[in-house]
Amino acid sequence: MTLKERDKKHLWHPLKQHQTHPNSLAIVKAKGCHLFDEEGKSYIDAISSWYTCMFGHCNDYITSRVAEQMKTLDQIMFSDFTHQPAIELSEALIKILPVNQNRIFFNDNGSTAVEAAIKMALQYYFNKGEKRSSFIAFENGFHGDTFGAMSMSSLSVYNGPFEDFLMTIHRIPVPDGTNTEAILNQIQTIIESDLIAGFIYEPLVQGAAGMKIHDSDGLNEILNCFKSNGILTIADEVMTGFGKTGKYFASDHVSTKPDIICLSKALTAGLVPMAITSCTETIYKAFLGESIATGFMHCHTYSANPIACAAAIAAIELLQSDAIQNNITRIANAHKAFESKIQNHPKVKSTRSIGVILAIDLNTTAERYGDLRDKLLVFFMKNGVFLRPLGNTIYIQPPYVVTEEELQKVYSTIQKALDIV
Ligand SMILES: *Cc1c(COP(=O)(O)O)cnc(C)c1O
Repeated sequence: MTLKERDKKHLWHPLKQHQTHPNSLAIVKAKGCHLFDEEGKSYIDAISSWYTCMFGHCNDYITSRVAEQMKTLDQIMFSDFTHQPAIELSEALIKILPVNQNRIFFNDNGSTAVEAAIKMALQYYFNKGEKRSSFIAFENGFHGDTFGAMSMSSLSVYNGPFEDFLMTIHRIPVPDGTNTEAILNQIQTIIESDLIAGFIYEPLVQGAAGMKIHDSDGLNEILNCFKSNGILTIADEVMTGFGKTGKYFASDHVSTKPDIICLSKALTAGLVPMAITSCTETIYKAFLGESIATGFMHCHTYSANPIACAAAIAAIELLQSDAIQNNITRIANAHKAFESKIQNHPKVKSTRSIGVILAIDLNTTAERYGDLRDKLLVFFMKNGVFLRPLGNTIYIQPPYVVTEEELQKVYSTIQKALDIV
């Protein structure tokens, strides 16, 4: 039996309707930008396996650092102990994070990084004797699938069974360069009617919405508005962090800095799951006190797992190297050139790019997981490129180590795909 057949016996895949889509492709190996299936066919991983392996799959430098760590210290409880990998990682992160960030709290995936951020914001006010229970978030945001994170997400078309159990969230549109004034007025109205603990947002790029890019000046004004009203701001950089937008963090494009930042995905370069919620010293200090009850009583068993920390330290070293920084610039320029090449194509409605992220909206209407998406997915895989279109949006986010030749193959495959839609 093939792996594909054995898979069907006991496995349950995420985001999948098994009745209509019973098959999953079995990948047996990955190296650099390439995935290899059980029949020996290879695919360029043009979305870095959900924006994680930005330094290529099974990167030799990162795997050797992780292997070394595995032989020295595998796992230790982080509530009572500390260790060198966590300390080194915190130092490396504080050097590159926005300047107001000073504390590193560990989680194990993007959703729980958001969950911890929500709890931090609520308890920050609680510890100060204020009861605040609502949040503000952007329309079409995505922040994860646990209850708090799911509440913050408005891409909740599939959240029907859970809607009655979600937190209170007020939604505002993303700034598009023309609507900032209206958004600021809307925020004022919300603030006057409810006690708001925080504003959560994906800075500049809404990933799950289809790599939608918004206006940085408008975002800056919105953040300033929250700051001046004493409301905490939470940047969900789970997707945008670690170089994707051309800077270390998307928040680096905006002069007003968030109070809390959520990180995961590229943090550990696709090797092992880990996430971080960082915050300012002011927030951290609100949890100090004589009683344990004012402390942050939130913990995951694998918090600050030394092996995951080792992967993250090695990844940050690579991110800071000239070689990777030059690649990011090269990819960003190639994206711009490809955009101007296809933007007048009759099947193309619009294109956008920032850093290594490129998205193309097709001149069609399509459901998020509908027939067009299936057709495109099959076409791309047939042509040896792994892309995961959403609705009528095709987007790419290749590993920083993608070669010029591999990148051109991705572009030409997309161009060919325009003829079948
Ligand atoms: C992927 C993602 C999450 C959720 O992370 P998981 O590790 O899948 O739980 C949260 N926020 C954003 C912006 C994401 O892209």
